[in-house]
Parts: sequence; structure tokens; C-alpha cells
Amino acid sequence: MKKIKRRSAIKSIGAISLGMATSSSLRGEVSNLPRYKEDDRLITDILVVGGGTAGVVAAIQAGHSGCRTILVENGSQLGGTITTGGVVFPGLFHAWGRRIIGGPGWELARDAVDLEHGFPDFSRSPGRHWHHQVRVNGPLYAMLAEEKCLEAGVHIRYYETPTSVEFNNNRWTVEIQGKGVRKQIICNQIIDCTGNAAVTSLAGYNTLREAVTQPGSILFILGGYDYESLDLESIPDQYRNMLRHNWRILRGSSGDDDYQPFTPYSLLVVNGADSTTSESHTLANINGRTQVLETLRKLRTLPGCEKIKIVDMRPETAVRETYRIDGVYKISYSDYINGRIFGDSMSYSFYPIDLWREGQPIHQEYLEKDIIATVPLRALIPKGSTNLIVAGRCVSSDRLANSALRVQASCMGMGQTAGAAAALAFNKKTTPLNVPVDELKKMIEDHGGIVPRVS
Ligand SMILES: Cc1cc2nc3c(=O)[nH]c(=O)nc-3n(C[C@H](O)[C@H](O)[C@H](O)COP(=O)(O)OP(=O)(O)OC[C@H]3O[C@@H](n4cnc5c(N)ncnc54)[C@H](O)[C@@H]3O)c2cc1C
Repeated sequence: MKKIKRRSAIKSIGAISLGMATSSSLRGEVSNLPRYKEDDRLITDILVVGGGTAGVVAAIQAGHSGCRTILVENGSQLGGTITTGGVVFPGLFHAWGRRIIGGPGWELARDAVDLEHGFPDFSRSPGRHWHHQVRVNGPLYAMLAEEKCLEAGVHIRYYETPTSVEFNNNRWTVEIQGKGVRKQIICNQIIDCTGNAAVTSLAGYNTLREAVTQPGSILFILGGYDYESLDLESIPDQYRNMLRHNWRILRGSSGDDDYQPFTPYSLLVVNGADSTTSESHTLANINGRTQVLETLRKLRTLPGCEKIKIVDMRPETAVRETYRIDGVYKISYSDYINGRIFGDSMSYSFYPIDLWREGQPIHQEYLEKDIIATVPLRALIPKGSTNLIVAGRCVSSDRLANSALRVQASCMGMGQTAGAAAALAFNKKTTPLNVPVDELKKMIEDHGGIVPRVS
């Protein structure tokens, strides 16, 4: 039998996987065919851009509502800040002894926790807000999110991003660029879940941004040392705290309680971190990694830490704040801390005001007993827009309200609202702002969501 040379074999495998299985490439010859595929247009009812915390939930809800749904994500997996960023401790699904977030987001987090370690008792009163966060396994969460999207009939497209969007004759034409792919997606509704209001901005609607945004963080875990035998006197405070916290992570417990959801990563603050463009996110990643490397080198000079090593590190610097939409309604700090319920409130949000500032302590304000904030539909809709809705941290809000609204369970609640509102708007041939509020509430509740009601 004639032997095939290893190099030729690899070349032809590459060509076949690129969809160029012509007779010449099967023979292992060099092909000059362009790699870009610009063949077909995709037609769908709803396009979700961004498969992170909110986007996954929006897509599942849209799929379960019977709409053809495409989810475009520029990364390689679902989950966004939770998985790629490493913020694997979503909060807060519970407030004051009861659950306040339901629907696909809750089901996803619940299944991820159940497969890993089971839930703590949330009916007891929270000591600190983070006692009510849940802890998920990042890779497991990403796999479950993907599985649930596929089960809901969602067409997932990784490594792609929109380059232009245009609304004409009641439909969006979205140009998508990906690895080896340029395509047009034609759809009726868009849900912008990019965290940065990227589609809203491409479509020409206003966005809001602070002069100085909150810092981001890079998350990692260290190993290779024994905290209990360190001479703590000889270790500067900043490193002692990091080593103590990291030791608890290595032991898999905070010390007080097996479940206690302490932050399961060490983190370093990355000032100015911005995920808006590939250029700004590249810079944030390089800054984060440079700091981790410097810290590692410094730690290795400390007695007992000579063999310290990186056990895990997230591939991206996680970003807290960039752009928010300029929405039909802007949720204010006063709305948030007073737990205002609007006629069109569709989901809850519960977290302290939590503003991170460069070189200063975190500004935190706790909600008073029994107060739970809410998110009205209007805060998810860019002013003047048609057939466009957002979900996630770019919700229309002032800065202090946003510092609490941005947490994950709140983003998941918004994701469910956006998925349901887009589906209802598609079915009724209207725009999300004009869907009947009572029908939307019912639809959210029918899919397990918890809608705030004025008592
Ligand atoms: C360091 C840090 C600590 C935090 N701590 C907590 C905490 O303790 N508890 C808590 O609940 N929350 C916490 N948060 C907040 C919370 O994690 C985020 O605000 C929330 O996850 C944001 O969700 P999102 O869906 O808006 O965005 P993301 O989860 O970031 O998702 C956005 C997705 O869109 C994709 N995307 C972006 N642009 C494009 C594009 N142009 N084309 C295609 N895809 C695109 C991204 O790749 C990503 O997958 C923290 C955040 C940070 C950064």
C-alpha cells in the first residue's frame, strides 16, 4: 500500500475541514482558493449578539418562545464574564429569605450548582450580601449554557461579530464578520447583550459613559506554598492577604462553612480596563497579565513562597463598566435604594450599591430591610429605537444604580425579559416598547420568571 507523507496528510485534513474537499486537495495539493465563505444569507426572527451572562438567557427564552433565534458570540464559549472572566459567583437570586429571580437564568445556575455541590439554605437571613451568592464551576456552566441553548433550538455562532446593522422595511440587515466567514443576517428583532451596548452604538443610538470607569480585574489561583508554615511577619500585608485568601481557595473552603461562597479566585485590579474594542480589550488583557507576572516574581522572593505557581488564570481581564444605553427610562439611584416598582417592572435586582474606584475603597451601600429594586421594560430600550432591546450591564441607569444592577442574577432577569419581549414583538409585528405589558408579564411567568407586582 502507498504510504501518505505526514505533512501532506495534515494539509489535506486542513483543507477538508475548511470545506474545500475538492479532488485536488484530497490529493494533498496546495490550494489557492480564498478561505472566506460569503455564500449565503441567514434569515431568522431574532438575533442575540453576545452570549454572556444575559445573552444566554435571552437566547434560551427567545428559543423557548418559538422564535428562530441566532446567537452570535465573539468568544469561544458561552457565559461571558461568568466563564471567560472567571466571575463564577453569580448574585443575587435571593433577597430577604425568598427567591426573586427565576426563568432560564435561575434554571441554568441551579443545574450548574446541583451538578457540583448542591445549594445552601437561602431561607436564613443573609449576614452579608455575598453569603447569598452561589458558586458555579465555570467550564461546567459554559457547557450547560450551550446545551440549554441547543435544546431551545438556538443557532450558536462563535468567533463572530457584527460590523454593520441597518433597519429598513421592518427588518434588520446585519453584516457579520467571523473567522473565515462574512455573512448577512436578516432578522426582525435584535437583542444587544454585548455588555458594552455595541449593537446599539452601531445602529446609531446614543450611549452613556463616565469619564473614568470602574477598574476591571484579572482572576487567578496560586499554588505551591503552605500558608500555615509561612513566617507571616516577613510578608508585606498586601501579599499576606492574597496568600491567606488563596490558601482558603486551595483548601476549597472559607473556613466558616463548607459552602460559604467566598470569591473562588485571587484578583488584581486593572485600572481603565475596557472591553469595548479589540484594541482596548487587548490592552486590558496585557495590563492584567503583566501585573500577575510581576506579582508572581515578587512572591517568589518571599520566604516559603519560592515555588509558588499559577494553578489557574482566566484568559481575559473581566470588565466592570463601559457604556450604558440612553434608554426610554433611566433607573436612578433613588429608584434603586427605594425599591421602586413601575407599571412595566419585569424583573427584580438585589445587591448593594457597589462602586469600585481607582485607588480608593469600594463605595458600598446596603439596601434597607425588605427593599428589592426592579427593572422596568423601558430601561432596556434605547431611546428612539425600533425592534431593538438590550439586556445586561448596559441597562439604562445612572452610575450608582448601575453599580448594583450590573450583577449577574439581575442581568439574567433582564435577559429573560428581553428574550420574551423580542419574541412577543415579533409575533405581534411590533417593537418591544409597544408589546402589551400584561401579556409580557404572563409570558415571563409562564417560563418560570418572577415579575414584581405592586402589592
Ligand atoms: C471583576 C468583577 C467582579 C464581579 N463580581 C460580581 C459578583 O460578585 N457577583 C455578581 O453577580 N456579579 C459580579 N460582577 C458583575 C457581573 O459579572 C457582570 O456585570 C455581568 O456578568 C455582565 O453581564 P453581561 O451579560 O452584561 O455581559 P457579559 O457577561 O460580559 O457578556 C457579554 C458577552 O458579549 C460578548 N461580546 C461583546 N462584544 C461583542 C461583539 N461586538 N460581538 C459579539 N460578541 C460580543 C462577550 O464576549 C461576552 O460573552 C463582577 C464583574 C467583574 C468584572
